[in-house]
Amino acid sequence: MPRPRQAARFRAGPHPRVAALGALAACAECQQPETVCVCKELAPLAHRIAILILQHPQEQDRLLATARLTARAFAGAVLKIGLSWRSLAQALGRPAEPRRWAVLYLGSDKAEALAKDRELVLLDGKGKLLPDQPAALAGIQGIVLLDGSWSQAKALWWRNPWMLKCRRLVLGPKSASRFGKLRREPRRDALSTLEAAALAVARLEGRPEIEAALGTSFQTMLDRYEAALKAQ
Ligand SMILES: [Zn+2]
Repeated sequence: MPRPRQAARFRAGPHPRVAALGALAACAECQQPETVCVCKELAPLAHRIAILILQHPQEQDRLLATARLTARAFAGAVLKIGLSWRSLAQALGRPAEPRRWAVLYLGSDKAEALAKDRELVLLDGKGKLLPDQPAALAGIQGIVLLDGSWSQAKALWWRNPWMLKCRRLVLGPKSASRFGKLRREPRRDALSTLEAAALAVARLEGRPEIEAALGTSFQTMLDRYEAALKAQ
């Protein structure tokens, strides 16, 4: 069985100064401190590409985690917390054809090596580059995001063998994550779940405004984190 080519990502843990904000009252929806929450300003977006976010139940870092925010930002996104599901359809709660779905992998170097100047690269269930990329990408109906630390994402991968029937989507973001110094990111390009979903859906649907709108909301949240840190 091939190993998921998932970069260490997403939850390298917030900066210790950010972690200190964990004591503040949290928004019930996004679980971020109320002072940084952007839920009220976030109008859920309509989208064609379906989104399934699978979150490992062992939640390590509530702060700066974006799975809940992503589920709120995309009107039709499904967020499931757990370790294993029998099939894509069971996880999603409705029928779905795995070959028309792609599990998201991050690793811009890989994307660059696979196909030059492409922000999205689609592989088959065995990790082989699909020959006609535009046609293959056009056939994708939904994406699966594995939310958690690298080891948590790996655990989700191994416990859900139905993912081998899905395509794999490698992202090669042109710009670095907005996390900046707030997270101890092991890789400069490690995107948050929100940024990864925004990039994938914007490109698959040919709607750059999705990425722009969510980028602005995410930046607002991060700016509020900076302000909250200064106020400490
Ligand atoms: Zn909130």
